[in-house]
Formats: sequence, structure tokens, C-alpha cells
Amino acid sequence: MSDRDMFTQVLRSACAHALSHLAGAGRRPVHATTDLETLRRRFDRPLPEAGTDPLDVIDDLVRDAEGGIIGSTGGRFFGWVIGGTLPAALAADWLTSAWDQNAAIHACGPAEAVIEEVAGRWLKALFGLPPTASFAFVTGTQMAHLTCLGAARHRLLARAGWNVEEQGLAGAPPIGIITSSERHGSVERALRILGFGKRAITTLPCNDRGQLDPSGLEDAMEGRAHQPTIVLLQAGDLNIGAFDPFADLIPIAHRHDAWVHVDGAFGLWAAASPKHRHLLRGVELADSWTNDGHKWLNTPFDCGYAFVADADAHRGAFSHRTSYTMLVDGARDQIDWNPEWSRRGRGVATYAALRQLGRAGIADLVERSCVHARELTVRIGGLPGAEMVWEPTINQGLVRFLDPRPGATEADHDLRTDETIARITATGEAFFGGTTWQGKRCMRISVCNWQTSKEDVERAVAAARGVLGNLAPT
Ligand SMILES: *Cc1c(COP(=O)(O)O)cnc(C)c1O
Repeated sequence: MSDRDMFTQVLRSACAHALSHLAGAGRRPVHATTDLETLRRRFDRPLPEAGTDPLDVIDDLVRDAEGGIIGSTGGRFFGWVIGGTLPAALAADWLTSAWDQNAAIHACGPAEAVIEEVAGRWLKALFGLPPTASFAFVTGTQMAHLTCLGAARHRLLARAGWNVEEQGLAGAPPIGIITSSERHGSVERALRILGFGKRAITTLPCNDRGQLDPSGLEDAMEGRAHQPTIVLLQAGDLNIGAFDPFADLIPIAHRHDAWVHVDGAFGLWAAASPKHRHLLRGVELADSWTNDGHKWLNTPFDCGYAFVADADAHRGAFSHRTSYTMLVDGARDQIDWNPEWSRRGRGVATYAALRQLGRAGIADLVERSCVHARELTVRIGGLPGAEMVWEPTINQGLVRFLDPRPGATEADHDLRTDETIARITATGEAFFGGTTWQGKRCMRISVCNWQTSKEDVERAVAAARGVLGNLAPT
């Protein structure tokens, strides 16, 4: 078989498998139906000595993965904050693999570099961020935090007369981090990797709507007497989608020379909707922002964005040149802004998704998701044996399930909640996750899939109703 025939056959086969996977989403259980042992048994062949026909490799892959692919691309997946994938984004992602450009520098993949440049500009416009902000397309918000906070470290220490890239962190003026109790774990991990140390973090309490309080921040900042400080704010926290009051908080932090970083992994998309945009008032005043394409925009995974207002700080922290870098006049080289060297051309899927939806389509996706999240939360929370804990302000809601026995304790309700989540998931009709919020176990309802429909909501509510109706009092 010629190489070309091999490509043709194997890609056609993969395409057919992919189409049948996507078409079967409505019929398959949403959760995984194959257990760990079975998956290991299927995949864990001896390291092959001889090669295998590529068609067989793909067929075996699909057969062995059976039951081990969760339905997160479908409309009834409400666990964590996970989007599906738009047709144009998925197809563009396939092309990205076929083109297989090394998106480290412009010279290695000129078209990809320009696509990224344009997509970065579009994203800033959509989010209402300063047009002069720099950006990087990274694997997700985790790496976007690392990128933004690397820029923060560069700038804050430079201001204190310390060149961190030359001198390292040992002996550097300590940088303090002020953030809220509702921060995402990825923030802490980025701080850890960058050498700030968890001890540098001051955690301020939130109000009952999950927001940092301006007077609390004022007090904390006064205590720091203009020492280098990073203030971490949230646009959409993972449990209830809380937005910090940016217009109040950021000027306080800036008055004390702090760098303000905003975790907007999914919440920044609220900027696309005239209905929800007000939640982000003042967010553009921050120094850096993160966001994920692979959540609410519904690109395939491996798609996060870092934005930095101070482009020089960003470049100062990440830029790298070698004798074999080939520079093209006026071009944007990703290696100046990204923590990676060789990397996937991940701007392509974003570009395609933004074109498929347009501003209006994104606004509609955001608004629809919020309506569905509210409907799911209010209706499941209203079932006998359930209680609504957080009515969504955007696309995140919380529900709790109550142990009906007289004298049941909070711990009993916690158990009942986890047990009910597991039973709903076991129906295969819908997938929800659990979380602990304000000391209570809750079922988390997150909607960010472009495919979620009214019918999906009906099916999910019916599944919850069925489970609660059949649950024997414990
Ligand atoms: C998902 C999420 C993250 C982590 O993002 P990744 O893309 O998984 O790296 C950080 N913060 C918030 C609020 C999130 O929802």
C-alpha cells in the first residue's frame, strides 16, 4: 500500500468511527460503563515487537475504549465545568493534526502563527480587554495562570530592583499573594511551580455570595505597606460562578501597587452576553486574565488563554532566542509569549469556533446555558427530598439531597447527597459531580455544552425524579 493510500484508508476509518461515536451519544449512557480492570486488560498488551497495520491500530483502539469514553461531548453532561466541541472547532482540530505545524515560531508554521494572532485579538475584543494586552495560547487555565503569574513575578521584582530571570528567587524580596477562599486549586499549583510557596498566600474570607469584600482587601493591603503583592480575583468560581466586584477591588489593589490577576476560566465568557456582562464590570482594569476555550467556547481540549496588560513583563518573563531561531520581520513568534517550545497549533480550533458562532452565537450559547442551568437547579432542587442550595446567577447551580429520617444530621444529608449523585449518574441519563460548599456536600450543576437542549434538561430532571422516587429511606 502506498503511503498516500494508507493515509486515505486510516483517516476515512477514523472519520467513520468518530461519526458513529458522535451520532450514538443520545443512546449511550453518559457515564463510563467499563471498569478500570477491564480497560487495563484491554489496552495493556505486551510492548509490541513488530508493527501493526494502521487500520487495525485504529479499529482496536475504538473497540478497546468501548465503555471508557464518557459522554462529555453530549448535552446531558453537567459534571465539573466541561464543554463539548463545536463542529467547526473539531474539524479545525483535525486539520491542525494533519498540518502538524510546530507552532513555536512563525517560521515553523506561518499560517498558524497568523491565525493565532487574529484569534488573540478577537478574544480580547470579545472579553473587553485592552487591545494592547499580550496573550498566549496555552493548554488550559492552569498553564495560563503560570504564564500570567510569571509575568507578574517579573514586573513586581523588577520594580523592587530585582532581575528574577538573572538572579533567581533565592534572596529576592518576598511576593505576597492575596486571594479568596473560593480560588481554584490551579492557582495554588501555579504559585507552587513559580516558587512563591503556599505560605505566601493570605486567604481572605468571602461574603455569602462567594465574593471578596472591598474593606477586607483594603485592610489586607494596608498591612503589606507596598511590598510586592499579587491579588487574585475570580470571574466565575467553580461552585457557584461567583464574580468578585472588580470595579471596587482592582482600584484598591492598584492604589497599593499590587498586580491583579483574574481567573476567568469560564466566567470571562459572560462578557459576550449583554445580559450577563454587568458581572464583569471593571474586569478590564486588571493586569492579567485567564480563560479557557475548551470550556464554554466548546473547542476540543488543549485550549486555554493567558492575557497580560503589561506586554513587556510578559515578554520579559518568557521570550527566548537561539541561534537557530528563524526570525521573520514583523511576525509574532509564539515562543516569546508561551511557556512551551514545540507546541500544537492550538489557535486554529479557537479561530474556527469564533467564526462558527460569531458574537451573536456566543452570546446565545452563554445565555442558553444559563437558562438551562437555572431550570435544572430549580426543578431538581424542588423535587421531594431535594433542596436548592444555590440558584444560578450564571451557569453554575448547587442542589443538596436530604436524609428523610427524623433527627438526620448534616453528615447524614452529606451521605445522602453523594449517594443520590451516584444513583443519578448510574442511570446513564445525566452526569453530575459533587462538591463541598460552605461545609455541605452538594450536587454541582454546570452547563456549558453547546448541544444541551430543553429535551436534555427534561431527561436529566426525569432521571433525578426517578432516583428520588425510588430511594428507600436509609
Ligand atoms: C477549569 C478551571 C480552572 C483550570 O483550568 P484548566 O483548563 O483545567 O487548566 C481554573 N479555574 C477555574 C475557575 C476553572 O473553572
